[in-house]
Amino acid sequence: MASEQGYLKSSKVGIIGAGISGIAAAKQLSNHNPIVFEATDSIGGVWKHCSFASTKLQTPRCDFEFSDYPWPQRDNSNFPSYLEILDYLHGYATHFDVLKYIKFNSRVVEIRYIGDKSEEFGPKIDHDVVSPGEFGPLLNGHPVWEVTVETHPSKTLEKYTFELLVVCIGKYGDIPRMPIFPPNKGQEVFGGKVMHTLEYSKLDKEAARELLKGKKVAVVGYKKSAIDLATECAEANQAYWIWGLPFFLFYSTRSSQFLHQTPKQGLLRNLLCPLLSPLRKAVSKFIESYLVWKLPLVKYGLKPDHPFEEDYASCQMAILPENFFSEADKGKIQFKRASKWWFWNGGIEFDDNTKLQADVVLLASGYEGKKKIQTLLPEPFSSLVLDSSGIMPLYRGTIHPLIPNMAFVGYIESVSNLHTAELRCKWLSRLADGFFKLPSIEKMLEQNSKELEIMKKTTRFYKRHCISTFSINHSDEICEEMGWKSWRKNNWLLEAFAPYNSQDYGQDN
Ligand SMILES: Cc1cc2nc3c(=O)[nH]c(=O)nc-3n(C[C@H](O)[C@H](O)[C@H](O)COP(=O)(O)OP(=O)(O)OC[C@H]3O[C@@H](n4cnc5c(N)ncnc54)[C@H](O)[C@@H]3O)c2cc1C
Repeated sequence: MASEQGYLKSSKVGIIGAGISGIAAAKQLSNHNPIVFEATDSIGGVWKHCSFASTKLQTPRCDFEFSDYPWPQRDNSNFPSYLEILDYLHGYATHFDVLKYIKFNSRVVEIRYIGDKSEEFGPKIDHDVVSPGEFGPLLNGHPVWEVTVETHPSKTLEKYTFELLVVCIGKYGDIPRMPIFPPNKGQEVFGGKVMHTLEYSKLDKEAARELLKGKKVAVVGYKKSAIDLATECAEANQAYWIWGLPFFLFYSTRSSQFLHQTPKQGLLRNLLCPLLSPLRKAVSKFIESYLVWKLPLVKYGLKPDHPFEEDYASCQMAILPENFFSEADKGKIQFKRASKWWFWNGGIEFDDNTKLQADVVLLASGYEGKKKIQTLLPEPFSSLVLDSSGIMPLYRGTIHPLIPNMAFVGYIESVSNLHTAELRCKWLSRLADGFFKLPSIEKMLEQNSKELEIMKKTTRFYKRHCISTFSINHSDEICEEMGWKSWRKNNWLLEAFAPYNSQDYGQDN
């Protein structure tokens, strides 16, 4: 049982989580001496707690980089391992003295709204209904959120209050998504071992090897973790399936993104966009053809049925590990596409009535990121945080128009989530310091629905706030709001054809 100390500590800014988003937020808001709560004993988030021996970055390192802290050997085209990423993050946190703000082993277990319900700032909360109006300053001199923190291992409960709470608890990790099976077809009927990737990532190298060695292993899933796991298993021995796609060429320059719709576009763009549609399709088709030529996707029945652009627009791509298909060619990785599957005593069975024998089933079925955020927030915010499509409608990927004095970092996705998070933290810090104001709640909601509309039009797989096809435009608008120049290259040629990354957003030039 946790003991209740019941004392309050107040500060202007509280940050929950010390992954990439949390340390970026801490650095950008350092002038307010934030308190950062981290549930575990280290920074790094998923790179520390959801990675396995083979986990590598799938974004080029020069894109996954803080604007003021270049990677050593930034032009090295190898994708860094999770250990290199952790080193890089430690380097950043130490260099900018961010660690001093972090309370490790401190899990936020409850958040309460204590803002004055009748105060003039922020949305009015009346009988659990939030009504739109103006969104006031983020730092208004009054505590708005009370946070209860449970420390580890003492299980002491501490309470803090903040004017602004920045939620950076990540979309992955912590709560595994488990598949649901019909009666008598769940893992209870299976004679072997079942493990989610979250559990697998906690094993040390030796234990993981021991688990896989000499075993028939089935990996269920088709995204990054599944692909890495499949290769890892193959290197230890035998079998499974997946399907993955590399790539983010052709989409990260201003000229390539010109082909795509943006949330706010003038009449000319509105007219041009449908006309440019064949060109957009041609780019997508070209990449598909390239991939089919380059990789044995047809041979292994892995050629997707949908256009490449839809994967890109939903942030669902994965880079294949180097020896993935060579392991497949040796017969050490086998693939099976199936929409439904369940357990039988000796392994797993598919909806086409075929059966696969397995000793170990590894579930790369993802995480319940939405549940994580909903569980932590109090009502009515918990019910408001997701819109009807299950997406968090965040203005500039950061502010929920119906949740006062709270910001979210790490929920909007693009090719590089680090760059996306850092720029939004810069924007947030300037907003908190009063350099600009938020538009009305109605305007923010309108902007969000425009972004959602584009995602829905571009891909049927939209499940998250993915801005990859209009990321430069998104950053342009952020810059404009901050009073920065939005076109940030030195000349027109670079502006049109050079990719945009963190280095372009160091400071205003
Ligand atoms: C296997 C894998 C590979 C990936 N590869 C890439 C890639 O190549 N490129 C890319 O751009 N993105 C990639 N991502 C996405 C990745 O999630 C982001 O890049 C980024 O690391 C997310 O950082 P974050 O700080 O938002 O969240 P997290 O890394 O999840 O950090 C959240 C932190 O909050 C802490 N926390 C959670 N709940 C609480 C609480 N209640 N109280 C206190 N602390 C709490 C957690 O312990 C954790 O440290 C990958 C994700 C995974 C899982």
